[in-house]
Amino acid sequence: MATIAFIGLGNMGGPMAANLAKAGHSVKAFDLSPQALEQAASQGCQIADSAQQAASGVDFVISMLPAGKHVEGLYVSGDQPLFDQLDSSTLVIDCSTIDADTARSVAAAGAEKGVGFIDAPVSGGVGGAQAGTLTFIVGGTDAQFQQAKPILECMGKNIFHAGDHGAGQIAKVCNNMLLGILMSGTCEALNMGVKNGLDPKVLSDIMKQSSGNNWALQVYNPFPGVMDGVPASRDYQGGFQVDLMFKDLGLAMDVSQKSAAATPMGSAARALFNLHKSAGNGGLDFSSLIKLYQDAD
Ligand code: NAD
Repeated sequence: MATIAFIGLGNMGGPMAANLAKAGHSVKAFDLSPQALEQAASQGCQIADSAQQAASGVDFVISMLPAGKHVEGLYVSGDQPLFDQLDSSTLVIDCSTIDADTARSVAAAGAEKGVGFIDAPVSGGVGGAQAGTLTFIVGGTDAQFQQAKPILECMGKNIFHAGDHGAGQIAKVCNNMLLGILMSGTCEALNMGVKNGLDPKVLSDIMKQSSGNNWALQVYNPFPGVMDGVPASRDYQGGFQVDLMFKDLGLAMDVSQKSAAATPMGSAARALFNLHKSAGNGGLDFSSLIKLYQDAD
């Protein structure tokens, strides 16, 4: 069993750290939020006073932080960067969704100090984090992928090696751009059907068995009352925040700009989530985008 530091115990990191502890690993957890620390302690993790204390003498450091600046600060440019204290016996696995350039530059900064760093963003949402069924999308060398795999398998079901450093983040951002487009389209179709007299559940059942079938209809219906256990059935609390989807669509637009890849649909989805966020909905689950359509009617 391994000794693991886990930094960032939010909606995703909390249940991921709990699953590592449940699998028998020794997990030393740190977050800036005292509530997140309390929750982690109740789920079998040891609590550290700082990221530096958590990362002392461990086999792996795993981070699950909001954005690139947090990851860069933790390992490279903060007050006591972890790359100054770690050595080649530790592999760093960053599971946050961040821009590929930062993932590559942090990996290069680690390599200069002899510390391995891979990007391993996830898909599957809070439900997947709790159930231990996440998809991990890894960017790094073959050897680093093989080293990380048994650890990632304690938190996920599908572990992919996308390519070298940064490739995990590129694949993740392609996926989330598609998710933003699919959710926007699903909200648009459901709202139009309901406006024309259809029952949202009946319409959802029809589209699920027809060519419009997609992930949002299958497991994450945005219309309240259609599906139990999804954010739409609890006032869009928990889940994947509009703020985070907006961040991911921004990352997709950066990749599109730098590579001159055409992304008109991604750009439209970003504009829709931007409008929704600007109306004060950034903290709601991203399926609340349907309110934008309902309010426009
Ligand atoms: P969250 O806001 O719930 O959690 C982030 C946690 O990081 C918070 O508890 C915060 O206190 C902590 N934190 C911030 N800076 C820190 C620091 N310097 N040291 C220690 N702790 C720090 O966010 P989340 O929903 O758990 O998402 C985390 C990452 O996972 C994001 O990059 C997000 O895009 C990605 N993601 C989220 C989902 C989802 O469904 N929520 C799905 C896939 C990927």
